Amino acid sequence: MTAHFAIIGSGPSGMYAADALLEGIPDCHIDVYDRLPAPFGLIRYGVAPDHYKTKNTARQFARTLDLPNVRFFGNVEIGRDVTLDELKMLYDGVILAIGAYNDRPLGIPGEDLAGVYGACAFVGWYNGHPDYRDLNPLLDKDAVAVVGVGNVALDVCRVLAKTVAEMDDSDIAEHALAAIQKAPLKNLYMFGRRGPIEAGFTPKELGELRELERAVAFVDSKQLPDTVTGEFEGREKGVKEKNLTIFKELATHQPGTKAIDMKIEFYAAPKEILGTTRVEGIRMERTKVENGKAISTGETFDVPCGAVVKAIGYFSTAPAGVPMNGNGTIANVDGWVVDNLWVVGWSKRGPSGTIPTNGPESREVAQRVIAEYQSAPGTEKSGGDAVALLLKSRNVRSVDYPGWKKIATAEVARATGGHPQEKFTRIDEMLAVLN
Ligand code: NAP
Repeated sequence: MTAHFAIIGSGPSGMYAADALLEGIPDCHIDVYDRLPAPFGLIRYGVAPDHYKTKNTARQFARTLDLPNVRFFGNVEIGRDVTLDELKMLYDGVILAIGAYNDRPLGIPGEDLAGVYGACAFVGWYNGHPDYRDLNPLLDKDAVAVVGVGNVALDVCRVLAKTVAEMDDSDIAEHALAAIQKAPLKNLYMFGRRGPIEAGFTPKELGELRELERAVAFVDSKQLPDTVTGEFEGREKGVKEKNLTIFKELATHQPGTKAIDMKIEFYAAPKEILGTTRVEGIRMERTKVENGKAISTGETFDVPCGAVVKAIGYFSTAPAGVPMNGNGTIANVDGWVVDNLWVVGWSKRGPSGTIPTNGPESREVAQRVIAEYQSAPGTEKSGGDAVALLLKSRNVRSVDYPGWKKIATAEVARATGGHPQEKFTRIDEMLAVLN
């Protein structure tokens, strides 16, 4: 009897789960679903375009999708083209690996003004995600404020600051590169509501700010402590110390020495986004940190800017009927959701960690899926063959892995300059390659 598993979402957590299922049951059948014709989720659409080498992780996953007992169902949306209940019936186990694809709200006045973008949308726009192809962010003023001091905020500021030459070996979407280069940017702000020690940056990424051609990154030395004090887990203290050393270097940088000033400002929480129809500025409130928490001081200051990017984290939404926790993750017990439904990755634990963080966690859940299957295998399920028939009867045009490889080859062929690929940014364009 063959075991049949479905994985919904072809990003890192889903693909690590596929690898672990194959390790446990090498001859099982795995079908990986994605609502886009393109696989690899966050690797393709979340990792910064100038961190192209990070995207090499996808090579390992590509080998998995190439296996004869693994099938890719791209351009298939669960809930629209096939229901979750249908999948649960047709497979021994179904794993949700749907990420956290919504921007958290700030919950302050002015958030609905034109010119306010969540990082999910903004990053999706410069990464060529079809959902955000037409975002056309307002980059017509000389200042952009980014709220949040995590690696996503760094990515956004760095991509806005880099020159065409610096982006030459990236796979930034053509429309975004053109819009960024046209923008009259002079000031980029990154606001952290707590202090430098609490910032979510990692040293390698923070260190990149030292080397930007047209932007000088700086921080006020008065906001920096002499040393890192306090209790930290594992390697965290070392990370904080490396960050502090870099902050101290940035504090020696002189604003005004390059075309763009990039200011990292701590102890500043957003209070209101200013403007009547569009963003004209952001009102910040000075904070102090007590017991690790940002406390309001009542003192405010306004910063003129034409756009605000919220890089403050993401949350998941699940297919209808799937229980959620209040914090935007899917309710689960060690990855088990209900019946034969499981969850991995950001939709399980929330938006934290790097791509490899997902490996051990997806493996643990996959091992439970296998144990559950082996304890009560039941009758053989019809799996992907039955889904393929359903999709055909519903006129759904799914994209298989050989189909995706043709699209990917066309993206490489149409790249110019040093760009490794020029992504298609509309689903129609991708499908047209297969016509
Ligand atoms: P993050 O590191 O959690 O940063 C979120 C930031 O938003 C924090 O500074 C947080 O401040 C702030 N924030 C949250 N709510 C806020 C509010 N209401 N007002 C003001 N500030 C608020 O998350 P992220 O940058 O979105 O990144 C997600 C994960 O992906 C992280 O684990 C990150 O390291 C990873 N990532 C890695 C890379 C890389 O390795 N190159 C690149 C991108 C992302 P508080 O700390 O005070 O809550």
